[in-house]
Amino acid sequence: MPVLSLSRKLEILADAAKYDASCASSSAPKRTSRDGKGLGATDGHGICHAFTPDGRCVSLLKVLLTNFCVWDCAYCVNRVSSNVQRARFSVQEIVGLTLDFYRRNYIEGLFLSSGVIRNADYTMEQLVRVARSLRQGHDFRGYIHLKLIPEASPELVREAGLWADRLSANIELPRAEALGELAPEKSASAVKRAMGLVRRSLDEAAPDPKARAAPRRFAPAGQSTQMIVGADGADDAEILARSETLYGAYKLRRVYFSAFSPIPDSTSRLPLQAAPLLREHRLYQADWLMRFYGFDRREIASAAPGGMLDLEVDPKLAWALANRERFPVDVNRAEREALLRVPGLGVKSVDRILDLRRHKRVTLTDVAKLCRGIAAVRPFLVAADWSPGALTDSAGLRARLIPAARRAPMQPRLL
Ligand code: SF4
Repeated sequence: MPVLSLSRKLEILADAAKYDASCASSSAPKRTSRDGKGLGATDGHGICHAFTPDGRCVSLLKVLLTNFCVWDCAYCVNRVSSNVQRARFSVQEIVGLTLDFYRRNYIEGLFLSSGVIRNADYTMEQLVRVARSLRQGHDFRGYIHLKLIPEASPELVREAGLWADRLSANIELPRAEALGELAPEKSASAVKRAMGLVRRSLDEAAPDPKARAAPRRFAPAGQSTQMIVGADGADDAEILARSETLYGAYKLRRVYFSAFSPIPDSTSRLPLQAAPLLREHRLYQADWLMRFYGFDRREIASAAPGGMLDLEVDPKLAWALANRERFPVDVNRAEREALLRVPGLGVKSVDRILDLRRHKRVTLTDVAKLCRGIAAVRPFLVAADWSPGALTDSAGLRARLIPAARRAPMQPRLL
C-alpha cells in the first residue's frame, strides 16, 4: 500500500465521513486566514459546521479514523467489498490534527467515527484512545463527538462517555429486518443495547446538586442516532414512528436523517435512485413539529397521503390545509398551543406575540414584523385589524401558497 501524506489521508477520510449526517454541514460563509490576515478559517478538508441546541454555530473536524472496514454493509461506500482508496490515521495523528486545527482556530471540536478494524472492541478502543489522549494528555476542552461501534464491550462504551460530550450509535435503517439483510454483521438489537447502556449511564450521571466539585459528567451533550432514508421500503410515517420510539426509549437529543444516495458497485437490493434531499428536509421539519410544536406524529401522518410527506408544502402547512376548520386562529385570544399550529409562526414569534398582547391588541402589522412572510400566515389568523373573511377552500389556498412555501428557508440541523 502506498504511503500517504497526512493531507492526503485527511482528504480521503474527511470525504469518507461526509455520509454521516449526525453532525451536519450548514451554510456558514467561507472565511480564511490563508492570505496572512486574521486567524482561523471555515473551510478546508474535514471541517463541518453544526448548530448547538442553543443555536450557536460551531465548526468540527469531522473525519474517520480509517475507511478500512472488515464489515460489508451494502449501503456503505467503505464496506470491505468496495473499491475505494483506503487510508488510516494513527491515534497520534488524529490528536495532533485536532490540536493543530484547534490552535489555529479552524475548529471548536472533533467528530470522530471509523470503519471496523479487526473487530468492534479494537476499533472502539482506538476511538477512546483519541478522546482520552486529547482530554488527559492535552487538557483539550473542546467538543468531542464519538461514534459508537455498537457491538463493542460495555466498558469501552462507558469510557467513551467519560471523554466525549456526545455519543451516537447509528440505527442505520428504519426497518430492523432490512438492516439484517443489508448489513449482515450488524444487528438492530446490538444498536439498541448500546443506546440503552448510554441512556442508563446518562441517568446515573445526572448531576448531584449537593456535590461540591462535580466530577466529569458522562456524555453531557447526550446521544443521537442516524437513519438512512430511502434505502429500504419504509415510508415517512413509518420513519417518524420509529424516531418517536427512539426518542422515548433512549432519551435521544436528535434523530438525524440521511437521504440515501446510490454508491458504486452496489447490490440490486438497493434503489438505483437517490432519495430526494427535500424528503430528508421534510422529515426534519416533521421531527421539529413533534419536538417543539406539540404535534403528534399521527397528526402529521394524517396529512401525508400514502404515508409520504408532501414535498410541495411543509408538514405544518399540509396539516393546516387538511384541517381548515381549526382556523383562523385569533392572535389576541388563542392559547399558545393553537398559535404554534399557525403556518409561518415559529416558537419565538409565538412567544413574542404572547408578550406583546399583554400590552396592546396585536395587529397584522405586528405579526408581519415577527414572521418571515405574512402572505403565508394571513389566511390562518385573525388580528385586531384583520380577518381573512370567507375561508378559501384548501385547494385554492394551497395553489396560492405553494410559491411562498417553495421559498421557505431550510432549517439548520443541530448537533
Ligand atoms: S461498519 Fe458498515 S457502515 Fe460502518 S464503515 Fe463498515 S461497512 Fe460502513
